[in-house]
Amino acid sequence: MNGRQIFIECPSWCVTDHVAANERHLEDIEHAGEMTDLVIPGGPGYRLLAHARLGWNPYGDDADRGPYVVVDDASEPFVVTPAEASVFADWLEAFAAQLRHLAVAALTAPLETAQA
Ligand SMILES: [Zn+2]
Repeated sequence: MNGRQIFIECPSWCVTDHVAANERHLEDIEHAGEMTDLVIPGGPGYRLLAHARLGWNPYGDDADRGPYVVVDDASEPFVVTPAEASVFADWLEAFAAQLRHLAVAALTAPLETAQA
């Protein structure tokens, strides 16, 4: 912190190495939890679609310093409140149900084409 090391007490779920992160200002300190991954099978292994984790920026400038949930699709991190994360989880469950229907439909879809 401005050339000095200070003691930062982390919540039990924080996995950030704050020394390695070399955060220079108090407002830059973000406690971050373990990532949970959403992957899709294919190719030689799997591909990462998105991951999510807990976050908390106790000295940040934003009104909502958290704890919050970060959902990152590798293009952009989406920071959402716990309530928004819960809504998103509901939508993912609905998406999963539709995905199961699509899998069954792909197995049973008729292959003949309409005759003109
Ligand atoms: Zn921490």
